[in-house]
Amino acid sequence: MTEGSLSHLVVKIGGGDGLDLDGICDDLAQMAKQGTRLVVVHGGSAETNRVAEQLGHPAEFVTSVSGFTSRRTDRRTLEIFQMVYCGQINKGLVERLQQRGVNALGLSGLDGRLWAGPRKAAIRIVKDGRRMVLRDDYTGKVEQVNVKLLHDLLDSGYFPVIAPPAISYDGEAINVDGDRAAARTAAALECDTLVILSNVPGLLADFPDESSLISAIPSDRVAEFIAVAQDRMKKKVLGAQEALSWGVKRVVLADGRVERPIQRALEGAGTVIGD
Ligand code: ADP
Repeated sequence: MTEGSLSHLVVKIGGGDGLDLDGICDDLAQMAKQGTRLVVVHGGSAETNRVAEQLGHPAEFVTSVSGFTSRRTDRRTLEIFQMVYCGQINKGLVERLQQRGVNALGLSGLDGRLWAGPRKAAIRIVKDGRRMVLRDDYTGKVEQVNVKLLHDLLDSGYFPVIAPPAISYDGEAINVDGDRAAARTAAALECDTLVILSNVPGLLADFPDESSLISAIPSDRVAEFIAVAQDRMKKKVLGAQEALSWGVKRVVLADGRVERPIQRALEGAGTVIGD
């Protein structure tokens, strides 16, 4: 059997409040034991905001001229980001999976150059109606995934649990969007499906009304739905659009607060984008 013919699944676990991490890990452990080659990518946004506040360096968010929101990542923010993502959240997931008999191995996108890409030289933002340029931000995007490292880990029986940051082409840690990094990872592993779990049932036409769930978006209409989403949800739909353009067949934005969240997502619960 070649690597490409093995079935892989990437699951992104959001960093908002309210996700049932124990329930998610129960589901992951069950699927891993059934032979699915799983890779987890996770966030940590809400906890990073709290820790940043406690450390006296509160989070700041900026909106790009194209309307996407991201965390202002100066050097101190990057350090706090790493404490929470690579420390508390990553090890919390590894511990939960280990308790369920899964040999989880936590690493960041920096380690082994797992996620590499360019650091943004400048970010064009809009603040109080005025355009500004930020040049000292440690953000960027993932362009390359060290797929060999993932296959080596999976072949050796490990279950990779990946946290941002990624590594820039100059070797700096860079904050990258977890949903878009998960999209790259799913494409690099030639996954049919990417599951993105967060604290909402999926994309809502009338946020926060949970009964307004959009249950399906065909691949040729994804762009118009980017407009429906506000702030953070926008990046998820953008990530889905990118994943489809790179060959992933469907992306499911699903609820991470329910029982068996991944298996339900695979059965079609949530917003199914693509086929
Ligand atoms: P992550 O799970 O990756 O940490 P976030 O929690 O930041 O992501 O993003 C999901 C959030 O997006 C939801 O909790 C919700 O507050 C917000 N959101 C904005 N617009 C929408 C929408 N149209 N449908 C669903 N969620 C939306």
